Amino acid sequence: MTIMLSISPIYAFSDNYIWCVARDRQAVIVDPGDAAPVLEHLKETGLSLSAIIITHHHFDHVGGIELLLKEYPNTPVYGPQNQCESINHRLKHNDSLTLLGHTFTVLAVPGHTLDHIAYFHADSNSTPVLFCGDTLFAGGCGRLFEGTPEQMLNSLQLIQALPADTNIYCAHEYTLSNLKFALAVEPQNQDLQARIASAKSTREANLPTVPSQMALELLTNPFLRTEYSTVEHSVATHTGLKHRNQKDIFAGLRKWKDDF
Ligand SMILES: [Zn+2]
Repeated sequence: MTIMLSISPIYAFSDNYIWCVARDRQAVIVDPGDAAPVLEHLKETGLSLSAIIITHHHFDHVGGIELLLKEYPNTPVYGPQNQCESINHRLKHNDSLTLLGHTFTVLAVPGHTLDHIAYFHADSNSTPVLFCGDTLFAGGCGRLFEGTPEQMLNSLQLIQALPADTNIYCAHEYTLSNLKFALAVEPQNQDLQARIASAKSTREANLPTVPSQMALELLTNPFLRTEYSTVEHSVATHTGLKHRNQKDIFAGLRKWKDDF
C-alpha cells in the first residue's frame, strides 16, 4: 500500500512558497530560500529532514541550504547542474529519484534560468504532482532571465503534456497579478473570469492559490494558450506585428507581460 504524501506551504520572504513534502515523520523540502521558517516548521510538526530538492540557482530558492545542512548534516541535496556548491546530487532530464518511497522524474525546463529543472510524481493511488519552481506559475510563467522564448515555450509544452489532473506547485504567490494580465489578453475568457473571482476570495481568506491544477491552467493561462486565435490576435494587436509562428507569439506575449 502506498502512503500518500502530504504537501504544505512554508511561507518565506514576501511571496515565496517553500514546499514541505511529508510522509510518516520525514520531510523533503523544496527550494529552501530561507532556513529559519523551515526550521520552525520542522520543529512545530516534529518532522525530520530527509532531503532537500532544488529547482534552480536563484537565491530565494537556495539561500537556506547551508544553514539547514548545519542543523541536519549529511542531508542529501538534489538539484541541477549549476554553481551552487551545496548540491551534492546533480540531476539531469529524465533522471528519476526516490523520495519518501515515491519516485519522482526530473524534467529539464530551461527558460527562467538555464539550469531550471522540475520534479514530477505520478502513481495510480494519488493525484500527480509537479514542483516547477519559477517555470510555470498559476496563471503565468517565469521571467526569462537566462533562456530564450523558444526554450521557455518548449519547457512549458513539456509541462502541459503532463496529466490534466496534475497539481502544480510553483514557488510564488503571483496568481492575482498574473490573472490580471491574462484578462488583458483574453477579456472574453469565461473560465478566466471565474478563476479570478475564485482566486480573489481565496486571497481574501489569506489562503494560498497554489497548487493549481493543469486542467485550469490549460483553460486560463495565456502562456499555455499561444496556439489559440484569441491570444494570437491580442498579441498581434498589442505589438502591431503579424506573428508567423507560435514562438513569435510567445515572445511577444512574454515581452508584453514584462512591461505590463
Ligand atoms: Zn527564480
